[in-house]
Amino acid sequence: MPIVHFSRRSRRAPTHVPDQDIDQRPPRNSWPLLSREKGYTYFGRDRRDRGKVYLRCMSCHAIMTVHAHVLRTAQPECTSCYLSDLATEASAAGLELIRPCPTDSHRAIYRAPCGHEVSRQRGRIQQIASGRAALRCEICLEKRYAEEARAQGWTLLGKASNGRLGYRQYRHDCGHQQDISVGNMLSGRFSCNSCSPNWSAEPSFVYLDLFELPDGRGEYLKVGMSRRPLSRLRHQFALTDGIRAKVLEKVGLKTGATALREEKRMHKVMRTEHPEWVVCATELDWIGVSSEIYRIDALPRIRALLADLRVRTTP
Ligand SMILES: [Zn+2]
Ligand SMILES: [Zn+2]
Ligand SMILES: [Zn+2]
Repeated sequence: MPIVHFSRRSRRAPTHVPDQDIDQRPPRNSWPLLSREKGYTYFGRDRRDRGKVYLRCMSCHAIMTVHAHVLRTAQPECTSCYLSDLATEASAAGLELIRPCPTDSHRAIYRAPCGHEVSRQRGRIQQIASGRAALRCEICLEKRYAEEARAQGWTLLGKASNGRLGYRQYRHDCGHQQDISVGNMLSGRFSCNSCSPNWSAEPSFVYLDLFELPDGRGEYLKVGMSRRPLSRLRHQFALTDGIRAKVLEKVGLKTGATALREEKRMHKVMRTEHPEWVVCATELDWIGVSSEIYRIDALPRIRALLADLRVRTTP
């Protein structure tokens, strides 16, 4: 029972065809001769579909089936050779061929060195193999953009709302969403249309949030600064499902600069005087931040620090 390949455009996987379905007697026509001219040996014709012929590729010895009119009028392309060429080109480009693209015959799916699957045109792979292009994995790239955004206090949301190339849509820690070029996000040469350039001069808050995890996994506190603590709580922490969150307390300050300074001061007090209440990043799989989270035992101490802050900053 030979394994038979189908035309590449049919995108059918190779399959076993029973011997009795193939009539291997030499035909009394030009098929054997035509086959040889086109790089194949004639293998047989289909017993049920008389227009279908089976050819054996002279270079890879695989068998494929084509319609007789393709043999007469065109150069049949060996699907097995095509796939092995694709695989060879892929490994020359440092990739692994996974499968041809199911919807686009010019593309295939590859495993990139980072482990992600990428879809590329064959021509692109040849360029990469010859050093004229580089492979950039979209998944890794977006991950990097997200990290670069986090470093600037922004969250990557996705494609730019205006669809501009090289831009993405981001959300600032203040809650404002904006399109920014990825280059500017990396360098920090841009400002938030909502809170800059005057955020540091405008009123802001130091807040205390309470998070209640489901299934008795505990309660946690977060101290931070924001112009809109509630919107920050609702939209920016990427909380996992089932977490109850609320703003316990907020202290209004005249400027963002003061709020930032006071917030940092509180974190410093907590880290130096109460390191046992500081939750480390490895425990924080339920929220999109990696620091500034404290154990519930810290509540009285944080409340006292906020009361002190209120007294110091109330005129
Ligand atoms: Zn072949
Ligand atoms: Zn990747
Ligand atoms: Zn902002």
